[in-house]
Parts: sequence; C-alpha cells; structure tokens
Amino acid sequence: DEFVHRLPKIELHAHLNGSIRRSTLCELAAARGIDAAAAMLDSPTPQTLSEAFDVFRVIHACVTTLQDIERLAVELAYDLDDDGVVYAEIRTTPRALPASLAAQDAGTLDEYVEAVLRGFERYTCEQMGDKVGLRLILSIDRAKHTASDAQAIVDLALRFQTRGVVGMDLSGDPTKGEWANFEPALQRARLHGLKITLHAGEVRGRDDEMAAMLAFHPDRFGHCCFVSASNLALLKQSGVPIELCLTSNLLSNSTPSLERHHFRDHYTHVDSHAEQEECTVCCISTDDSGVFNSPLSNEFRLVMQTFALDQQQAFHLARRTLQATFLTRPRLDFPSEATNQLMREDD
Ligand code: 5GP
Repeated sequence: DEFVHRLPKIELHAHLNGSIRRSTLCELAAARGIDAAAAMLDSPTPQTLSEAFDVFRVIHACVTTLQDIERLAVELAYDLDDDGVVYAEIRTTPRALPASLAAQDAGTLDEYVEAVLRGFERYTCEQMGDKVGLRLILSIDRAKHTASDAQAIVDLALRFQTRGVVGMDLSGDPTKGEWANFEPALQRARLHGLKITLHAGEVRGRDDEMAAMLAFHPDRFGHCCFVSASNLALLKQSGVPIELCLTSNLLSNSTPSLERHHFRDHYTHVDSHAEQEECTVCCISTDDSGVFNSPLSNEFRLVMQTFALDQQQAFHLARRTLQATFLTRPRLDFPSEATNQLMREDD
C-alpha cells in the first residue's frame, strides 16, 4: 500500500538477463556447477561498470538454454506485475542457445526470441485481472556484434514486428565498438518502422560519438551520464526522451552520488495543465534489477527522496513516460485499470 508501489509505473529500460532473480541465478549456477562465490554472486552488488559487465558474463554462463530464457521472461513479467508496473518494454540480446541442457544443437536467434515471447505469453495466460503490457526490444551488442550481425538482428526484429517487437537497442560494453559500424543497420530498422534507443554517454571521452548519435536522432537515449556542455545543449534541444537508471549509475560509479545524478539537469516538473515544450521526458528505469537489486518502485522512492518530489510530481513524472514508449497508439494499447485511471487524469 505504499505510494511508490501503487503508482502505475512504466519500465522502458530493463535488460532481460540483467533482471534475473538472484534466487534463479543461484539455482542455475548450482545446476551448472558454477562456483557462486568465485563467480562474484556473493558480493551483493558491483562497484564499477566493468564489474557489472563481469556479472553479465556470469549470468550468461548460467543462463544457457532456451528453457532458462523462457523462465527469465515469465519471472520478470510476474516481478514487474508485483511491483506495480503497468507497461514494460524489455530488451534482450539474442543468443544462439540449445533448447535444453540435453539438446545437442544450438538453436537459432528466432528460437531465442520465441522463448522470450513464450515466457510473456505464459504470464499473460496465467495471470488474472490487470496485466502488465509487455513489448520487446532487441539489442545489438556493440562489443560483440559485427555490422553484419547487427543487420541480421534487424531482420530478426522485422520478422517479429507483428508479434510484439517494437524496437532496437544498442548496448554492450561502452568502452568497445564503434557507433559508425551499427548506424546503417539501425537506419534500416527505422525505415521499416522499428523505434531506436541508444545507450549513450556511459563513459567519459566519447563526445564525438555522442554528437554523432545526436545527429542520428534516436527515439530514446539510455543513461547519458557523461555529456559535454555542447552535447548537453543539443540533447535538451532535441526533445529525445532519456531513460535514467539511478541505482545502476550509482553502483557502477557513473554518478558520484544520487544528489548529483543528471536527473537534476533534465527534470522539470510538468503537470497536466502546463505541458512545456523544451523539457526532456525522464523515464525512470531499473536497467538490471537482478544485478543492482532495485525494483522500479524503489527507483521512484529514491527520486522522490533525493529530489524532494511530492506524490503529485512523482505521478506526473510516471505519466509523462507514456509519451516515450514505442507504442504507436499508447492510449488504446494500455490494458490495465490502473493505467486507465492514469489516462483519465491526463485528460
Ligand atoms: P541481455 O541482453 O543478455 O538480456 O542482458 C544483458 C546484457 O545487456 C549485457 O550483456 C549487456 O550487453 C547489456 N547491458 C546490461 N546493462 C547494461 C548497461 O548498463 N550498459 C550497457 N552498455 N549495456 C548493458
């Protein structure tokens, strides 16, 4: 019954494997004979972005079958539901995995996407009453994928466009890979109606890349922690919404403190009667709730406490996120009663 829990929330930046339940990770690690302590699962949370990437490697070593992927998808759907999330765009990097531990062949990338969607469908069929609306974004990994891998993932997304894939993401280790390699694939995705979100400004010294990404004008940006003054001015002018993940940025050392988080540079209170034009839509998100141990309700609690937002301001912050979804007609697509209420407030 706590406010942040009851608040109808929209999650736009959550990586599937990074959102794994700790309990599931420990179970899979044991089943795969992976030493949990050696694998860093005992340390509660990473301390730097590079440590976070070490944890992703461990997760990928534990999540090795399509069965596991389906399980992660269904568990995440229930976790979002329990946390009061009404709509979520989940992103994941397709990998070729065998159907089960007994299976001989690595499956196809289509089968990976099918497994995620099967997980979502299981939740939707089992769950009674209001349900979290779920859509999928496919990620290109800038450290691991080539330009032609990226094109193949765009083709994959296009094959699933009528089944819930709404966009593409560029993520992976930000110290590696070149934006120019991936731009053509993302340009093509956009021509075919997929929306684009880019991880940007996660490490220092990438101002040229940020400028090139701004010129591309994606539909959303993720993070934008390290942005030069000139790029920040362009970012504000651009009107591109940003996905902000406070705990993730704090624990990966991308912000010195919550108080100094760049939310403060972008947030302007806007209520329903006074929509202002040049005001960035801030999409409060979790990034990797399994790794950083913070559900979306907690992210809203932190924002409210740190930046002294009252309940009405938090409500409007959550509601504005609706403008940044990759849905073409968000009003019609919103399923839950909580969100209908949100919509009525909007009118
Ligand atoms: P998956 O795509 O396998 O479902 O989720 C884990 C992957 O998401 C990681 O291997 C990494 O490529 C990407 N990821 C998760 N969190 C972050 C982040 O904070 N920054 C970047 N750049 N990539 C991330």
